[in-house]
Amino acid sequence: MGTTEVDHLIIGAGFGGLCAAIRLQEAGERDFVVIEKDTDVGGTWHANTYPGAACDVPSQLYSFSFALNPDWSAAYSPQPEILAYLRDVAAGSGTLDRFRFGTEVLGARWDAPTRRWLVDTSVGAYAARTLIAGAGGLSEPRLPDIAGIDTFAGPVFHTARWDHDVDLAGKRVAVIGTGASAIQVVPELRKVAARVDVYQRTPNWVIPRNERRTSERRRAVYRRFPGVQRAVRAGVYATLEARVPAFVRFPQLQALTEAAAKANIRRGIADPELREAVTPTYRAGCKRILISNAWYPALAADNVDLVTAGIDRITPGGVVDAEAAEREVDVLVIATGFHVTDPPIAERITGRDGRTLAEVWAATGMQAYKGTTFHGFPNLFQLVGPNTALGHSSMVHIIESQVRYVVDAVDTLRRSGWAPLEPTAAAQDAWNETVQERMAGTVWTAGGCASWYLDAFGRNTTLWPGHTFTFRRHLSRFDRGAYQVTDPSPASSPSPKETLPA
Ligand code: NAP
Repeated sequence: MGTTEVDHLIIGAGFGGLCAAIRLQEAGERDFVVIEKDTDVGGTWHANTYPGAACDVPSQLYSFSFALNPDWSAAYSPQPEILAYLRDVAAGSGTLDRFRFGTEVLGARWDAPTRRWLVDTSVGAYAARTLIAGAGGLSEPRLPDIAGIDTFAGPVFHTARWDHDVDLAGKRVAVIGTGASAIQVVPELRKVAARVDVYQRTPNWVIPRNERRTSERRRAVYRRFPGVQRAVRAGVYATLEARVPAFVRFPQLQALTEAAAKANIRRGIADPELREAVTPTYRAGCKRILISNAWYPALAADNVDLVTAGIDRITPGGVVDAEAAEREVDVLVIATGFHVTDPPIAERITGRDGRTLAEVWAATGMQAYKGTTFHGFPNLFQLVGPNTALGHSSMVHIIESQVRYVVDAVDTLRRSGWAPLEPTAAAQDAWNETVQERMAGTVWTAGGCASWYLDAFGRNTTLWPGHTFTFRRHLSRFDRGAYQVTDPSPASSPSPKETLPA
């Protein structure tokens, strides 16, 4: 099979890849392909099908600004609704004919002579002028390194790879982890399983969730008067942005969140010992703040045991905790999160000097310019790149900001005859220095916890330390001055340092 030449190759058919495809098409770019390893659009929302999977960002913000959904059923949407939304948007976009499902990236390398990304996939090869990676920030399950886990005799699966063929009715189930995924799945599991053992390493702050359903009448109003829905959406957006100072500058304000979470604990749990076991000792917000009305009552249920002793090892028939107590179980559910600061896609992308992104990051930690482009990696754009994730609002907003920047960059590339561009080292360094300066004093750094936001160097290379509108402003246009033309053309002089406004 030969190599397919395209102007743009987009990796991933989640919110990021789909948004890029739609916006590129609107900008008049027709020659692009979206490759996706799964069988459908959806990304995270296609992969995570565990019972109880839902979004903890308000529905009103969890859609594209150009495709509002008047039909969200509730204040927070369940996974099947979000997946259906993404399928609808994709189907109506006129781009689906360029999606190639069941196609996984094996490796991508910059080829200087042809000024193309040469991309090997499980199905064939591509040569592309630009590579737009929307592979997802939370896509590769992180499996715990626990002695004996390979010897377990029963089914073992991660929440993001749920095995629906396993009948959990009447089974004894162990769940490892108490993060955002676990708190959604455990209340569902305990309804069908004989017993659920929940292995908690660190408790999370869990505040109440607004369970309000959206009435048919309200949906009809949204359908008829989209302006009303836009106004509601703007209100929700402003409410969430108002929380930024409590994360970034005044972590002591998180005491309000802690009070709400403690009230949630008191409502859900009567036993003082259990209450204490689930109460965190670090500042709220240091790890992601979770929302649930069902988590604490589930932990208090007769058929659920919270185990805090730590896991010593796993045997073919069960789990042995650090106090040598063995609990027999039939099924092991792994809810231990994802590879965030070491994403596998970084191992598969090789820049102009022959090093992969992962090799570059091994020395520096994850770094990009404006979370999107990379010195040494011409015409590469990453959606949901370093320091773009959020602890307070919707990633869809960030993705739209990035895609706007990418589309503007593509326009610049086209107008310049496709001379490849990469950010100067100086521009990228200045951006990251400023971001890291901002991190000092944030709740993520000063809140007294270890979290997956932090990398091996202890730096937060995951989150954006500010308002989403500030991020959008930084990416509102492609700032050609921060870029250099990649070889073989002579490199332009380095740009002035780009800094964030105070
Ligand atoms: P997570 O937040 O990273 O939680 C992983 C859990 O596993 C933590 O409780 C962690 O404990 C524990 N753990 C990790 N390794 C362990 C080990 N070796 N032994 C025992 N426990 C271990 O993962 P997640 O719950 O899948 O959520 C990941 C992210 O996905 C969320 O923060 C969120 O951004 C996203 N998510 C979003 C939604 C949504 O509603 N939008 C739903 C699910 C997930 P420690 O705290 O001690 O590390």
